[in-house]
Formats: sequence, structure tokens, C-alpha cells
Amino acid sequence: MADKNLEIIPLYEWGMFKEPRPSVVAGPCSAETEEQVMETARGLKEMGVNVFRAGIWKPRTHPGCFEGIGVEGLGWLQRVKDELGLKVATEVASEKHVRECLKHGVDILWIGARTTANPFLVQEIADALKGTDIPVFVKNPVNADLDLWIGALERLNRAGVRKLGVIHRGFSTFDKIQYRNDPQWQIAIELRSRYPELPFFVDPSHMGGSTKYIKEISQRSLDLGFEGLMIEAHCNPSSAWSDAKQQLTPAELDDLIFRQLYVRDADSDSPEWKENIDHLRAKIDVIDENLLYALGSRMKISRQIGEYKKDNNIAIIQAARWDSLFGKVVEKGREYGLSEKFLNDVFNAIHEASVEVQNEIISGKKQAGI
Ligand code: PEP
Ligand code: MN
Repeated sequence: MADKNLEIIPLYEWGMFKEPRPSVVAGPCSAETEEQVMETARGLKEMGVNVFRAGIWKPRTHPGCFEGIGVEGLGWLQRVKDELGLKVATEVASEKHVRECLKHGVDILWIGARTTANPFLVQEIADALKGTDIPVFVKNPVNADLDLWIGALERLNRAGVRKLGVIHRGFSTFDKIQYRNDPQWQIAIELRSRYPELPFFVDPSHMGGSTKYIKEISQRSLDLGFEGLMIEAHCNPSSAWSDAKQQLTPAELDDLIFRQLYVRDADSDSPEWKENIDHLRAKIDVIDENLLYALGSRMKISRQIGEYKKDNNIAIIQAARWDSLFGKVVEKGREYGLSEKFLNDVFNAIHEASVEVQNEIISGKKQAGI
């Protein structure tokens, strides 16, 4: 049986991240050379980043690409810790990776999207983490499977990992889309609503696949109330050995975080705000009730029409009637400032429900009380 609850230590109690949002983890896709790691880390430290990321073992799609510098790079991360006082984070995909990270004092681990999709590997990592206190972030699996993502969290949590968080980096698609990975925000929102206490980061670098999308994805994730961002940054992005198109310089990251992104409060204690918002919400509630009443009344009439069609042996769908009705709806709806797409969605749903009810009448099925 799957666990219902996760036992989570809140993000700001890990001693690594501080409010206000966003908490930032930044650093290169890959640790390439000691100089590149140190120069990037110095730039990030200067702009106030506390947690430095760098991939040591890289899961590449094709063989023959740079697959990470390996254990040697862990020594460079130790230098970042010792000389600059930053916390360091890297990706693990096996028990061996975990052991090496623990040996070299890595502060935070993350499980990459390709690994989250493999329960054998996640279990192997979870077993290797038993008895440790190291925080772990779990990226979403490459495929859009929320249960697989939650299953990975459960495996780690059962192994005693309570400093646990997630990183949303989007899902693979076969069709080419604007972003490198499809956000499918509804999956992230569902995970947040099931586990509101779970620290939630978004990785706009891997989601967007290009520096040009980093701002809009980061802003969206702040607007959705998520705590943190994991962003790839490199001292010289265009010469990066992996993911060159999606890495910012430390200066660009500084500009993004401190000058471009806007953090909206989730709520406010101001009495004036409360009074006004309550008033507006009360109005919306009344309108919603009216909408429901109108939809119910419409459905009653639809049913009567169904009976009448049945008695007269008339087919349910009369395309000409629907076309003219829809034309009028769009014309009228525009006057109310509603878009054609919205009207289309709403009236198609209404029409479908109406047809279904009439179908049941004509085929003699019992009505379920609409
Ligand atoms: C990474 O963060 O370097 C990485 C490989 O990301 P993902 O697992 O999201 O592809
Ligand atoms: Mn990368």
C-alpha cells in the first residue's frame, strides 16, 4: 500500500534557504574544470546565491557526449564550500554516487528526471541514504506520471529522508513544442495541493531549454506560489560542455532575480484588502449561483425538447439549429467581452451535456435527475 502522508521538514528549517522567495540553487549544468567551477561559484556568491549546483555525473541522451567529470569534480565542490562558504548540490543516479557525495561532504543531492522514472534506482538511492540527514530534491520523472513522482518521494521518505523537496522541470514530448519540456502545470499544482508542505522548486533552465524562456517560466512559478528556482548558470555559457543554450551568466541571473522577477504575496493581513476581496468574492458567489440556476433551467428545457423529439420521432442533433445558435452566442458574447475560444469551450460543453441527456431520453434510459 502506498503511504498517504509524507513526513517533511519545512524548507526554511534545513538551515540552507531563507525567506523571502525565491530560494535559488544555481550553478553550471556540468562541472567542467576547476577554474570554471570556481569562477562561476565566485560570481554567484557575489550576487547572494547560497546554494551552488554542478552536475558531476551527466545522464546524456546520446553516447559520446560529455558524461560528467566524475569523482574528481567533487574535490572542486569541496573547494567551493571551503573557500566561498556556499552549500553544494549535485545529481545522484546510483548508490555509488551517493556514497561518493557523502564522502566528499556534498550538502544537497538531487535525483534527475531520468532516474526518478526508474523505481529500482530510486530504491537503491533511498537504501544508500538510510541513516543520513542529507536533503534530497526529486525532479519529476521524464514522463508525465504524478504517481511515479510521488512513489519516488515515498521511497526516500520511508528510508528516513525528511529534508525532501521536489523540482519541476517539465515532461518530455514527442512532438516539438516551444519549450524543451512541457510544463503541464496542472500536475505540479496537483502535487502541491496533495502535499502543501513539500518544498517546491522549478527548474526553468531544463523546462525552457533556452535562456529566452527563463524569465517567463520563473515568473509563472513564483505566481503559483512555489518556493524556489534551480537555474543553470555558467561563467561563460556559450562555451559550456553541456546545455550551452540555457545557461545564464551570474550577472544575468542577478538581473533576473533582483530586477526582473516580481514576487506577489500569497495573501495579505491588511484589513482593507480583506474587506475588499471578501466583498468581490461575495459578488462572484452570487453570480456562480445564478449561473448554476441558469444551467439547471436550461437542462430542464433540453430534457423537455428531448421528450418532444422522441414523441415526434425526430433526430436529436439538428446541425443547422446548433450553428445558428452558436453564431448568435458568439456575437452576443463578444459584446460582453468574452473571447470566441472561451465561448466555444463553454457552449460546446453545454451542447454536449444537452445531447447526452436527450440521447438518454430517446434511448429510454432512466434520468439521473438533471
Ligand atoms: C540537470 O539538472 O543537470 C539535469 C540533468 O536535469 P534533468 O534531470 O531535469 O534533465
Ligand atoms: Mn543541464
